[in-house]
Amino acid sequence: MARGRIADRLTFGPARRRRQMLRRLRELDRLDAAAGASNPWADLPPAPGPYAGSSRRAGAGRPLSEVERRERRRRRSVAVLTALVVLGISGLYLHDEYGLTLSRDGVSGFGRLGPLPDPGDGGAHAFAQTDQGQPVTYSPCRPLEVVVNRGLEPPGTDGLVEEAVARVAEATGLQMTVVGGTDEPPSDDRELRQPVRYGAGWAPVLVAWTTPEVIPGLAGDVVGLGGSAAVSESGIGLRRYVTGTAWLDAPALADLAAEPQGRALVRAVIMHELGHVVGLDHVDDRRELMYAENGGAIDFGPGDLEGLARLGTGPCR
Ligand SMILES: [Zn+2]
Repeated sequence: MARGRIADRLTFGPARRRRQMLRRLRELDRLDAAAGASNPWADLPPAPGPYAGSSRRAGAGRPLSEVERRERRRRRSVAVLTALVVLGISGLYLHDEYGLTLSRDGVSGFGRLGPLPDPGDGGAHAFAQTDQGQPVTYSPCRPLEVVVNRGLEPPGTDGLVEEAVARVAEATGLQMTVVGGTDEPPSDDRELRQPVRYGAGWAPVLVAWTTPEVIPGLAGDVVGLGGSAAVSESGIGLRRYVTGTAWLDAPALADLAAEPQGRALVRAVIMHELGHVVGLDHVDDRRELMYAENGGAIDFGPGDLEGLARLGTGPCR
C-alpha cells in the first residue's frame, strides 16, 4: 500500500540537538577554565601512591584563604554538576538516536543489531520510497517491534504472522520480532506515536486481521495491504521508516487457509505485506513474491531477496 508521505513533521531533530550538545560542551569547557580545574573530577580524592597529593592544582604553591577555598569548592561543584547533566543528556541523546549506550567505559553497542543479510543472486525488485537516490529504510540499529491484533484471526492460521515476520527478519537482517498482541483497532488514519498505549517513541508496526468493512482498501480481490511511514526528524536528513501497518483480510484469508497448502499461501500473503512494510514495491515479474497478484508462490524470489537485503542495510539512525 502506498501510504502518504509524512515528511518533516518533526523539526527538533538530530542536527539541532547535536549543535545544542556541542554548545553545552563548550560551556562546560569555559566553566572548567573559570574554575581553574583541569577536569571536572578534580575534587575526587587523590589516588594513594607516590604521586598522592601532587601539586598540579592551580594555586597549590600558596596557602589559600578560607574565602578562596570556599569559592573554589563552589565553582568545582558547579562544574561537576554541569558535567553530569551534559553526560546525562548526551547519553540519552545517543541512546535515542543511535541505539548506543554511553557508560564510563565510553560508547558501546554501535552498529547493526542483526546479522548482515545474504542478497543472493539478485533479480527484479523495486522500492516503495526513495530519498536522494537511496531506498528509504528502517534503521538496522533499532529493534523493529511488531504487535498483532488477533481479534479476527481465522482458524488454522495461528503462528503464521510470527513465521512471516521471522522470514522477513532473516531476509533483511533487521531485528524484527512480534512482541505481543494488541487491541489497537486497524485504521487508515493511524497515529505514529501512541504514548498511552505503547509508551514513548514511535508506535510499533501493527499487523491486524480485519475486514473490508473496516479497511475499504481490502474490498474486491485485495487480500492484504502493507506500508510504512517515513519521517526526517532533522528536517534536512534522509527520511527513514519509523512504523507501519499490515492489514489482512480475515474472511478472504480464512477461505484461502482452508485450501490445500492453505497455511503456506496465507503465510506468503503476510510475507508480501511485510515486504511492503519494510520498503518493497511491486515488480512486474511473476517469479517474485512482490508481484501484485499471488499465483501460488510461497516464498520470496531472488529479486525480493536482493531488495530485502538492501532494505536491511540502510544507515544506522
Ligand atoms: Zn502488494
